Amino acid sequence: MIKIYLEDENKTKEIGYKLGKLLTPGSVICLIGDLGAGKTTMTQSLAKALEVDDYITSPTFTIVNEYEGKMPLYHFDVYRIGSSDEMYDIGYDEYINGEGVCIIEWANLIEDILPEEYLHIELRYKDMSREMILNPVGEKYEKIVEELTR
Ligand code: ADP
Ligand code: MG
Repeated sequence: MIKIYLEDENKTKEIGYKLGKLLTPGSVICLIGDLGAGKTTMTQSLAKALEVDDYITSPTFTIVNEYEGKMPLYHFDVYRIGSSDEMYDIGYDEYINGEGVCIIEWANLIEDILPEEYLHIELRYKDMSREMILNPVGEKYEKIVEELTR
């Protein structure tokens, strides 16, 4: 477990961008945190690093939004999901096993269907700032976290 203090919004963006540069096809990022913790802010910077030109907003009504970058970006927000089965209805298998990067906001709600390896990131309120807690699952993500914090 690695903790990074995110003093302000710019720091969130800076880390998000840096992380985005370390991602490769098939990477899966699970973003956990209360409303307003910074999940979408971080996703926006990640997307920038992946050379996505579109402006990213939370996919509130669609569960997943797809973007074209140097590789595809699949941005999930599963806050309103009823059960994991709904994920399969929207083609979850193809997304998760595909060549794009998957970012899943509220991934704790679909914990039973997460892949074997992923990067678990929790964003926590810390007074007016935020704290980022990184838990890599699998060697690929351990290396990414190592790079991110070096
Ligand atoms: P979420 O998607 O988790 O609901 P958003 O990214 O939509 O959260 O909103 C996060 C809010 O917190 C934004 O208003 C953003 O400016 C702010 N924010 C992001 N990072 C920090 C930080 N490190 N410290 C203080 N405020 C932050
Ligand atoms: Mg959001």
